[in-house]
Amino acid sequence: MSARQNDGQRNPGSLRSRYITLTLLLAIIVISVVLLFYKGIISTKQNVAEQLLVIQEDHSTLNRIKIDLLETYRNIDLFLLDPSQGNHADTAHSLISSSLVKVREFALRHRLGDLDVRQEAQRLATKYSNLKESVTALTELRMDIQRQYPGMSISAFDMTGPQQQVINSLLILIQEIESGNLIPESKELYPLLLKSYTLWTRAISQMRIYMANRLASFSTELLLSQANSLENLHNKFLEDVERLGWLYTTEDSFEGETTIRSIEKSARQWMNLFEQVRAVSESDKWRGDSHTMKTVVIPLTDEISSSISKLESWLSTQENGVVEQHRKNTDTLSTLLFSIIGLFMLFALGLILSLDMMVFRPIASVTEALRSKAYNHKSPALIDSDSREIRYLIEAFQQMDAEVDQRQDALEHQALHDYLTGLPNRFMLNQRIEYQLLTSAQSNQPFTLFLMDLDNFKDINDSLGHAAGDILLHKVAMELSQTVRKIDTVARLGGDEFAILLPDMARDESQKLAKAILHTLQQPFKLEGKLISVGISIGIVSYPSDGTDIKSLLQHADIAMYHAKRQKTGFSFYNSKEDFFHENRLSLISDLKDAIENDDLDLHFQPQIDVKTNRVCGAEALLRWHHPTHGEIKPDKTIELAEYAGTIHQLSLWVIGTAMKECAAWHAAGHNISVSVNLSVLDLANQNLSGEIGALLKQYRLSPFYLTLEITENGMMENPGHSIDMLNGLSQMGINLAIDDFGTGFSSLTYLKKLPINTIKIDKSFVLDMDINESDEIIVQSTINLGHNLGLKVVIEGIEHHELMEMASHYGCDQAQGFFFGRPQQGDEFLQFLEKSRNGFDSLAPAKRPA
Ligand code: C2E
Ligand code: CA
Ligand code: CA
Repeated sequence: MSARQNDGQRNPGSLRSRYITLTLLLAIIVISVVLLFYKGIISTKQNVAEQLLVIQEDHSTLNRIKIDLLETYRNIDLFLLDPSQGNHADTAHSLISSSLVKVREFALRHRLGDLDVRQEAQRLATKYSNLKESVTALTELRMDIQRQYPGMSISAFDMTGPQQQVINSLLILIQEIESGNLIPESKELYPLLLKSYTLWTRAISQMRIYMANRLASFSTELLLSQANSLENLHNKFLEDVERLGWLYTTEDSFEGETTIRSIEKSARQWMNLFEQVRAVSESDKWRGDSHTMKTVVIPLTDEISSSISKLESWLSTQENGVVEQHRKNTDTLSTLLFSIIGLFMLFALGLILSLDMMVFRPIASVTEALRSKAYNHKSPALIDSDSREIRYLIEAFQQMDAEVDQRQDALEHQALHDYLTGLPNRFMLNQRIEYQLLTSAQSNQPFTLFLMDLDNFKDINDSLGHAAGDILLHKVAMELSQTVRKIDTVARLGGDEFAILLPDMARDESQKLAKAILHTLQQPFKLEGKLISVGISIGIVSYPSDGTDIKSLLQHADIAMYHAKRQKTGFSFYNSKEDFFHENRLSLISDLKDAIENDDLDLHFQPQIDVKTNRVCGAEALLRWHHPTHGEIKPDKTIELAEYAGTIHQLSLWVIGTAMKECAAWHAAGHNISVSVNLSVLDLANQNLSGEIGALLKQYRLSPFYLTLEITENGMMENPGHSIDMLNGLSQMGINLAIDDFGTGFSSLTYLKKLPINTIKIDKSFVLDMDINESDEIIVQSTINLGHNLGLKVVIEGIEHHELMEMASHYGCDQAQGFFFGRPQQGDEFLQFLEKSRNGFDSLAPAKRPA
């Protein structure tokens, strides 16, 4: 049941829908905020712009009014300076009128505004109306010269009468004298008249200068001094007039006296008028317009200016207010914006944290677990999430994890085990050896490795079928597994090859185990309705003496196993000399070829004794090869090389020929004994063999009766059908045939009966210890009986001492061979031996088994 179904308590929400909702929410918030801001910004902007525009317009209106006011003032000034030049008065008037219009418009614009502003604007309009009136009055005044210059009017109109009166009167008086109407007694009168006349004209001039100065200069000091000098002149004139009056009295001219009195009166009147002129001229009323200007126009314009300033300052305040408001609005918007940004950030942080908690961390833990899985490490604990997707991911991972584990276990088992027997395979064995090498290197403990190969497995496969072969392999696997300890590793390396890794096992112990294995497998069992037993060859290597790495250990075990197979010893420990043979195989092959061709080989002969007569009855020819550099090479190795190199046929013929030649020589010396020659399995496959042997027999004129061919039990069984034909041929030629190494193979009795043999040679492995090993003794005894029952001659080999000879004799063996009688010897030596034993074998060898 999946974890998904298992989860009854809480159904996690979908991450997708959650994040879609959140994203939509976020989008809506963002869009609304943006819109809100956009609208706010636009509207405040418009608002402020409009307000500022109105204020700006008002400002410029007031500015215009101000400029116009200045311009009005300038025009009034210009007009007052010279009314005849241009039409400044009109300009001033129209400026005032247009300003008045503007002021009224301003007032109208602000009719709903502040009370202050409304009142101020109203006041300004009123002032402009007043100004208009004042300026009209001023222009009128300016154009009225009497009102403009009041002093001038007195001097021009009022003073002229008395002034002229004085001149006329004086002129009459002077005329009177000059005309002779009066001839004055006083000589003083006429000059005094002239002088008075001059004084008067000077006074008039002085008055005119005063008036002119009044117009031209603004200095009242100058006016005062001029007025003083005029008064002085007037006073002098009045003094002179008084003298004149007195003179005329003395002259008794009543008329003259009266005239002088009128002159005095007119002069005093004139002076009074002048005093009036002075009063005007030396005050600020000397010009009518400047007075109006000072008292009316200028105060009015000042008020207007201040009024405009007030309005302007009010406008500035207004403007500042708008700007301030705008600033406030912007501040509010900014605060809002920052708050929203802060909220967004909080939201984003929350989002990230929740993503981290619900997605990233669980995914990271799954990733970590996957990685651990990939490297086969222990998976870390997975972080759970309350999101559906992640929960499903974790569940899927866990499911996968379990399945991968299962599959991996299966694959691992498949990869490390043999499918047929279920035993560890070569790969796993290698791993275990590697591991063992490591631990043994550390603990200094030896270990042992068995390499095994079934004997004649191919025959069983061929004769009983592959299914039976498989059953056999299975059976062997089981037997091996049951024989070894728990800590040992039994492996099948392929075919009929097995191996056992034996930790902490020394050489002696391993020998016991090897024997136990051989013994177990020799027990016959039923296969396809037939009782069979299995032979096996075991190569044994030990760490560290036979190798310190996996390659050399396996190689050496293989060599040892091969040796065991060839020697039929069942098991064999690795021997470095064997190794030498393996390593030099190629050069040895060519050396052997040369040796055969150059007749560099040797043949030794080992005597065979007739047990009943104690006489030498034959000899076994045994090959010897003394290699020029490597020394003696064992005959079974030489044969193996020749078999391997394909020169066995040549070699066998050389041996047969040489043996026949020697045998012929023995016969010539009067020793009519036979010679035994060993044949290789491969010789039996050679179709020409019998013909060639026949030819050699002819060549050495030897009767086939004296020739025995020894063939190993296994060799004979290798290809039974074919072997029988060949053997029949040889037998029909009269040649003796012997089964060599009898007992090591597993030939069935049926075959023994069918084969055209006449001798069996009991293998020395049963003989050597038969005096101390009861089972060997029984085997030898029963084999002798069996041979005799089949009508065969029984030869026993491996007789090393007298006791064995006694036993052989006791059990009725026919012939015996062994070191007790003689070792294999060179041809000459053997002939001497024959001579010496002509009358029967006389043992020099030890009577008893050496200690
Ligand atoms: P084999 O046919 O069993 O030969 C007898 C072997 O046993 C000889 O070893 C011999 O020296 C040895 N032997 C004889 N008596 C005793 C004894 O009392 N005690 C002990 N321990 N050993 C004894 P060798 O000469 O080393 O030959 C070994 C094997 O080589 C022979 O075994 C045979 O299978 C093979 N062989 C030797 N020469 C030839 C040959 O010319 N042709 C072929 N095909 N094989 C040969
Ligand atoms: Ca032999
Ligand atoms: Ca033998």
